[in-house]
Amino acid sequence: MAKTDHYGVLGVARGASVEDIRGAYRKLARQYHPDVNASPDAAQRFKEVTQAYEILSDPEKRQRYDMFGNGEFGDAAGFGIDDLFNTFFGGARRRERGPVRGADLRLQVELDLEEAVRGVEKTVVVPRQETCAHCGGGGAEPGSKTSTCGTCGGRGEVRQVQQSLFGRFVTVGTCPRCGGAGRTVDQPCKECRGEGRIQAERKVRVNIPAGIDDGQQLRVSAEGESGMRGGPPGDLYVLIRLRDHKLFRREGDDLIHILRVTPAQAALGDEVAVPTIDGPLAKVKIPAGSQHGQAVRVRGKGAPRVHASGRGDQLVYLDVVIPRSLSKEERALYQKLRSVSGVGEEDEGADVLGRIKDALGGS
Ligand SMILES: [Zn+2]
Ligand SMILES: [Zn+2]
Repeated sequence: MAKTDHYGVLGVARGASVEDIRGAYRKLARQYHPDVNASPDAAQRFKEVTQAYEILSDPEKRQRYDMFGNGEFGDAAGFGIDDLFNTFFGGARRRERGPVRGADLRLQVELDLEEAVRGVEKTVVVPRQETCAHCGGGGAEPGSKTSTCGTCGGRGEVRQVQQSLFGRFVTVGTCPRCGGAGRTVDQPCKECRGEGRIQAERKVRVNIPAGIDDGQQLRVSAEGESGMRGGPPGDLYVLIRLRDHKLFRREGDDLIHILRVTPAQAALGDEVAVPTIDGPLAKVKIPAGSQHGQAVRVRGKGAPRVHASGRGDQLVYLDVVIPRSLSKEERALYQKLRSVSGVGEEDEGADVLGRIKDALGGS
């Protein structure tokens, strides 16, 4: 990228003081500002002058420019010519005419895990701006007349001559009387006071598909705020939050369930009934020699896959519970067990601590 000579653009020496730079910029900006100078080069010159000032008036940027030149700035990115313009000359250059799309709305819906797994239809109350039915959004009382705005002559914007530090400037702004519409109403609508929109609470039905998960968002098309001046409505976004469940924790499409078993069940194996999210119990086989933290899979009892067919699984994690107190009979049996068996050596050298931690993490 060619190095622009910002000092040359402003016509000041390299060692120029901040006051000199400011003075030079004021003079040149007045000369080249597009509102006062109609020559085709003026806009480009104004931009260059403003860029040069932006850099040289900021001690940090000036130092970098002196050291590295322009290239370090890229394309002097993030340059707010308009911002700078407004700082210096006042007046926003906003233009608001024609249709404006309504704003999107966001709301949150809390679901039970059962609802998320089965899918559900929820009715949500959406406070929003709606097109006024009385005037059809035009803002005029039915039967009244609209006429061209007398302030702006129908253009929707007004030019103002302002006296500033730099002399007289013309600024362009949205017409304060008609708000940019270019037309005024003889008799504003009684319902919306001429706004064309009213605040309403609207009930919207939201179809929540089976399998939806916490944090997912649904878009309900065209149920956001009404547009203005005939613009389309915005959308409604519904954020799904799942309430905690007593028995299950969701992990993707799988449902995690913790099952407490005795050391004897883990050692000998067993068949037990576990609750499912569908309601009826499911039978699971605990294999003989199961370890604490190990999981048994119940196929197809998880959450439905939203964008695919089928369901996830229910994962039953075994929580082997060592009894804290024993009956007389149990004590006798445990004593006998203690005398005949020990802990096997097969896991020697394996990552025992890691395995135990995993098991604890799973419960
Ligand atoms: Zn109205
Ligand atoms: Zn106007």
